[in-house]
Amino acid sequence: MGFGEAKDYGLLFRILKLRSERLLRPESVQGVMEHALQHRERVGVQDFVLLEDYRSEAAFIDNLRKRFHENIIYTYIGNVLISVNPYKNLPIYTEEKTQLYYKKAFFEAPPHVFAIADNAYRSLVYEHREQCILISGESGSGKTEASKKVLEYIAARTNHLRNVEKVKDKLLQSNPLLEAFGNAKTHRNDNSSRFGKYMDIQFNYEGSPEGGHILNYLLEKSRVISQMSGERNFHIFYQLIAGGDEELMKHLRLQNRPEVYKYTTDLVTPASQKVNDAEQFRTVRAAMKVIEIGDDEQKEIFEIVASILHLGNIKFVQNDKGYAEILSHDTNSSNVGELLKVSSSKLREALTSRTIEARGDVVTTPLDMEQAQYARDALAKAVYDKHFSWLVSRLNSSLAPKQKDARDSVIGILDIYGFEIFPKNSFEQFCINFCNEKLQQLFIQLTLKSEQEEYLREGIEWVPVEYFNNIIICDLIEERHRGIISILDDECLRPGDANDLSFLEKLSQRLDGHAHFKSHQKVDTKTQKIMGRDEFCLVHYAGEVTYNVNTFIEKNNDLLFRDLQSLMASSGNHIVGTCFKDVNLASKKRPETAITQFKNSLNELIKILSSKEPSYIRCIKPNDFKAPMTFDDKLVSHQVKYLGLMENLRVRRAGFAYRRTYEAFLERYKCLSPNTWPNFRGPAREGVQHLVQSLNYEKEEYRMGNTKIFIRFPKTLFDTEDAYQLK
Ligand code: ADP
Ligand code: MG
Repeated sequence: MGFGEAKDYGLLFRILKLRSERLLRPESVQGVMEHALQHRERVGVQDFVLLEDYRSEAAFIDNLRKRFHENIIYTYIGNVLISVNPYKNLPIYTEEKTQLYYKKAFFEAPPHVFAIADNAYRSLVYEHREQCILISGESGSGKTEASKKVLEYIAARTNHLRNVEKVKDKLLQSNPLLEAFGNAKTHRNDNSSRFGKYMDIQFNYEGSPEGGHILNYLLEKSRVISQMSGERNFHIFYQLIAGGDEELMKHLRLQNRPEVYKYTTDLVTPASQKVNDAEQFRTVRAAMKVIEIGDDEQKEIFEIVASILHLGNIKFVQNDKGYAEILSHDTNSSNVGELLKVSSSKLREALTSRTIEARGDVVTTPLDMEQAQYARDALAKAVYDKHFSWLVSRLNSSLAPKQKDARDSVIGILDIYGFEIFPKNSFEQFCINFCNEKLQQLFIQLTLKSEQEEYLREGIEWVPVEYFNNIIICDLIEERHRGIISILDDECLRPGDANDLSFLEKLSQRLDGHAHFKSHQKVDTKTQKIMGRDEFCLVHYAGEVTYNVNTFIEKNNDLLFRDLQSLMASSGNHIVGTCFKDVNLASKKRPETAITQFKNSLNELIKILSSKEPSYIRCIKPNDFKAPMTFDDKLVSHQVKYLGLMENLRVRRAGFAYRRTYEAFLERYKCLSPNTWPNFRGPAREGVQHLVQSLNYEKEEYRMGNTKIFIRFPKTLFDTEDAYQLK
């Protein structure tokens, strides 16, 4: 490639300039130049802000694809990391690579999740600003792997510090444990997290991890009782069945074939998978040991897992009055009774009848077949769900720092479901997409707020950037008395004939005319899209989603019949007893609905995150086949939209993309000007002034703030960095 074809005039110009100042040997210029340009042509740009046509989605995807095929999975948009799942192991997480990121500024090493981790760590330890790392993307895009890499990096980074091995071990081992109970094989991901997770890593004054705390969100408990064909239940069921030793299996009355249990039948397990499950079971037990979950507790945990399998196999028979019964010699119910240490006959009773208190009278009514099956499945879900939350709190007590440090500070990592648009969307997608609206709102607030504040502090003029503020959608969903959540809760609490369709009716009445709500009663004249009679549509920041209201009321009510509730509270299994005891049975007050609980915990999370400085990792799934080296443009394009990446890039380009303190800037680049090299004595600001003159920065390219230089086009900085590298 000759100079004439060089796309990179900036780079060319600066190299020629350096050469004219005799900072580079003439003969080396041509070769270096060509090499650099060819390299760029092949691997694309490492920061999207460098794209010439930064408004073009095609150029954006082109750049991602180029890099992906070169096994470069990371790219920045400013300080946001974009990661594309390679679906194969790349040699980019070695110890050598790890060390490359110690104390490096962003652009000084190739984009990497380690750079995000290091940046957060340094800001925390040296600048005392609390950090959070927010990871988003759809299922299978690599969020959980990224969060593990952050944790591993921090563990390695703090290796030289004293006495933290044990804490780090616990932090690292919390992953296999939570994954066994909270992850499952799905179509999208063989190890899909079926819950949202926020984890704080707590550091002491000298910057070593001394503890952690985990918050869990919305476990997909419906998976306990049924799975889509080709998917599995939570890993732990299969792990226990494949890996439990003879004595344990005998105690749990389990057979070593998952297909004999209704809750785990949907998939015939291949032999290789069984070996893997058995191996994983050993890993889980080892993790439990590190977390200091003792033998007795382990036994109780497995008793719970096994009892759910037995529960699923309980069969009802219809008696001559048309009601459900369980035969008294039914072994499944007696197994559950023995494992959970509750009376088997009471269990059979509670599964087939229901006690209702009405105006002081206690009435027992028998359940029909359908109601009884519902009660059984509701119990299985409730036990598993509560047990999972118990496990998280058990982890937390083990991870809690032994001594509270006054200067305790944290890095939080959020690994939570991304925006979901399926052919059919239900209550779960509604919750998940609401969560994503809230996180988008936080993103807007945090980024724009911190930008404005910094400009003010540095005495630089701030020109507001146009962007879409999704607060209007958050309000549509959660505003008190008027939002969708309120309308749903009202309908759930209303006595009488409330049902999914009456809820939909109310929505249509009350939200008619809202710019982000579309009722099925009105056909969209623009798109001619016709909705079903049981659907409504929300215009989310990431696109339109049509929700089906079927089961909204039931899922939001999340009822477990009282008889089962109190029976479980009497369980001699301590974990189950504790889990169900909390519910105040005597209280007449209704428990909070599922969506209100979720809303409250989400707002709690937003409060925590707002007080921290955020970094973002946006994960992208390159294809639907879990295959390496396959890049599906259309699929990626969807995600680029849902993740709001083009908007992100546009906003980033509108302001000053980079800034550094005068000291840091001068320290790195002083060798690029004869005025600052080899000797310069004076204020750093003055040195930087010399530098930008020598480097021919245009007036529009930068501003001098009170303590920092602001550079408008990242390209300016990259060219400077190139020049530095070439020296
Ligand atoms: P998510 O949490 O977003 O649903 P995961 O992090 O579980 O997705 O990733 C799904 C699978 O993709 C992993 O089990 C792993 O096989 C593969 N994967 C993800 N990230 C990487 C990576 N950085 N390197 C290699 N494989 C990866
Ligand atoms: Mg995950």
